Amino acid sequence: MDNGPFVCTGCALLCDDITVELQDSRVTGVNTACLKGVSRMKGCASPMPCTVDGKTVDENTAIKEAARILKEAKHPLIFGHGNSTLEAQTKSIELARKLGAHIDDTSSFCQGPLVEAILNGKLPTCTLDEVRHMADVIVFWGADPSHSHPRHLSMYSYFPRGKQRQRGWEEDRTAVIIDVRRSDTAAVCSDKLYEIPVGADPEFMGALLSALSSKVPKTSFNMDPKRILELANILKKAEFGVVFAGLGMTYSLNSLDPLFSLMNKLNETSKFHLIPMVGQYNMRGFDHTLFRETGHINRVYFGGEKVEHGPQQSVVELISNDVIDAAMIIGSDPLASLPGAIAKKLSKVPLITIDPCENLTSRVSKVTIPSALSGVECGGTAIRMDGVEVVLKQIIDTKKLADEQIITRIMEEI
Ligand code: SF4
Repeated sequence: MDNGPFVCTGCALLCDDITVELQDSRVTGVNTACLKGVSRMKGCASPMPCTVDGKTVDENTAIKEAARILKEAKHPLIFGHGNSTLEAQTKSIELARKLGAHIDDTSSFCQGPLVEAILNGKLPTCTLDEVRHMADVIVFWGADPSHSHPRHLSMYSYFPRGKQRQRGWEEDRTAVIIDVRRSDTAAVCSDKLYEIPVGADPEFMGALLSALSSKVPKTSFNMDPKRILELANILKKAEFGVVFAGLGMTYSLNSLDPLFSLMNKLNETSKFHLIPMVGQYNMRGFDHTLFRETGHINRVYFGGEKVEHGPQQSVVELISNDVIDAAMIIGSDPLASLPGAIAKKLSKVPLITIDPCENLTSRVSKVTIPSALSGVECGGTAIRMDGVEVVLKQIIDTKKLADEQIITRIMEEI
């Protein structure tokens, strides 16, 4: 019996030191993981049923019905993929090409712009292992990893000793928090909290830029210029700095230009990197895969003469403008994450949901197909939040198909 170590797919940190206890082909105990990871590795509280129109059916019937819906739709959308392996994501893109469908993922309304800028070489980045071994200044900007990625501070960013940071957090690392409130991360690791008003991130980037250029920084919210100059001084002196960019930062930036200017300025005097705080375990994987195949990370349409991409192809625009007439959702729960009015509209089109666990979207879906839980019931590969590829091992046997096997079967029916 293999007890590990295994990789946890509870979030995009993909902790790789998880050991488990097994009994009768079930995970009964999980060691090392945080609570979020334990609940992920133990499986779904409500497993997904296999249904068509709310009636329990066998897998073949559900797959045939899913294929029929997609084939008959003029503008099908394939959406999700954040909790699917790279192998499933690749198959999903193949299916979208075959159907001439729209394809998108959650990065479309969260960390997509940052991942895109990194893949296009516009933002310097680094790995979490480099952070552990080398980082002396860590900035959590609009991010609260103690909730979103509970082992972030202990595994990589703040507490652990590294090759060049032998004294760890006590003497070798400085953590800075820029946020709209005193987060729990601030309470754990920093007295260097810069509280800014909601939406003031671009303005604060401008003030920091001034301070880094030895000008007196001014803000409309009257932060003491001395405090901003003090922060600029810490950042300037960093040997290896990293900004962990959370949704709080991303949502307040209409354009990435203020961030580009700040990162460029920081890199005139020190070495600064940025890692987006991606949530779902393989959201970044989808962006990498689609980028490799089309040059775009999300918002793609395969139905035209050539691949189309742009804001009009985003899941939100497609639903708002009543473009799509069917949708297949894989490893995601858009009804729980999209704005209410958009989610309501989405629920009106025929939906197919493929997921190990029941969720809000599956409850209004015409077809639901249960899939194996990746990293537990099936293996595969994924891209960690820092862009590193990680291998997921299967822990227990299951009769359920993996996402990519379900998509392959749907393609065969089409
Ligand atoms: Fe799993 Fe994320 Fe917790 Fe690590 S931090 S154990 S990957 S949920």
